[in-house]
Amino acid sequence: MSNEIEFQIAVFPGDGIGIEVMESAVAVLDAARARVGGFKLVNTELEGGAGCYRDTGVDLPEESLKAAEAADAILLGAMGLPDVRKPDGTELAPQVDMRVHFDLYAGVRPIRTIPGGPKILADPRADRIDLILIRESTEGLFAARGKGVIEDDREARDTMVITRPTSEKLFDFGFRLAERRKASGHAGKLTLVDKANVFTSMAFFRKVFDERAAAFPGITAEHLYVDACALDLVRRPWDFDVLVTENMYGDILSDLAAGLVGGMGFAPSADIGDDNAVFQPSHGTAPDIMGTGKANPTAMILSAAMMLDWLGHRHGVEACETAAAMIGRALETGIGDGRIRTFDAGGGNTTAEVTRAVIDIINNG
Ligand code: ATP
Repeated sequence: MSNEIEFQIAVFPGDGIGIEVMESAVAVLDAARARVGGFKLVNTELEGGAGCYRDTGVDLPEESLKAAEAADAILLGAMGLPDVRKPDGTELAPQVDMRVHFDLYAGVRPIRTIPGGPKILADPRADRIDLILIRESTEGLFAARGKGVIEDDREARDTMVITRPTSEKLFDFGFRLAERRKASGHAGKLTLVDKANVFTSMAFFRKVFDERAAAFPGITAEHLYVDACALDLVRRPWDFDVLVTENMYGDILSDLAAGLVGGMGFAPSADIGDDNAVFQPSHGTAPDIMGTGKANPTAMILSAAMMLDWLGHRHGVEACETAAAMIGRALETGIGDGRIRTFDAGGGNTTAEVTRAVIDIINNG
């Protein structure tokens, strides 16, 4: 009998390239797990997404939701297809519904230059880009989803919602993450991105941030207006450590930041709550390239590595953190020495070729 700790993983491949990059991530996870040992992953593939809605009339079946709830972690590809819509014409977004359902308030989006990878900014300091943007993922302007009003075809309104309990948890999460990074040599800085000079909701957001900052004297707390932040993310992204912001601002800024390190194919993400967490790439289903083999699995593989890191940290299983780091290093090695060159980085490696290369590096160095 093995005494390895076992984690139940709910796997939603989803739609489009989500399915393609998920296959890649699951294979890489398996390789790293086999190499490191000490833990087991039991994957259960679950239905959900636009294809599921087209076939069954439901985008997130109750059984899937229940299984995801019971799992130790949720791994998600991407969901949604432009031609599959609800009767009112809106796109399906079960992954956004899941964030609200599981109260996954902290959307963690690391942005890091991979040495030898795509370089968008000519400045040599761009090699040092290594920041994490935390996007609040359950309220903010997205709280208006499905609740907006149009009056007499004359006026439309969506409302921003900021609550104290979610903001406090969000900021504490941000300060703790900055502390964990500081312990491994980062600046130990948390930047609040808001628009406190214009909106009451944002002034309140800032007030709560300042209150929580007092509890973390070892971390430098600073504020930046969202417009200035957009400018600085292009002008001096290497100066940032951890940023925290409202849902809609985070939606926009995380795509901008992903652009700095090569685009959506390189941007992993995790949506973390107190009891559950979903790990998925920042990108969508990329219908323009699905089925071509051109999808870059890097973001999905790195999201899977974040899952291992989170499981390891949460359950005190060092082997998981070791496997997570091994996956990150394998990708960096392959990209750095040119073995891995994806289509979105001007290369010609298919999703399957990247997967094989990463596994080969994990196994043989
Ligand atoms: P969503 O609204 O769900 O974020 P979207 O259609 O706005 O979806 P994506 O699906 O992320 O955005 O695609 C945006 C662009 O980035 C597309 O041109 C797509 O081909 C490209 N892209 C996204 N992910 C990848 C990837 N993993 N590899 C290569 N290209 C990608």
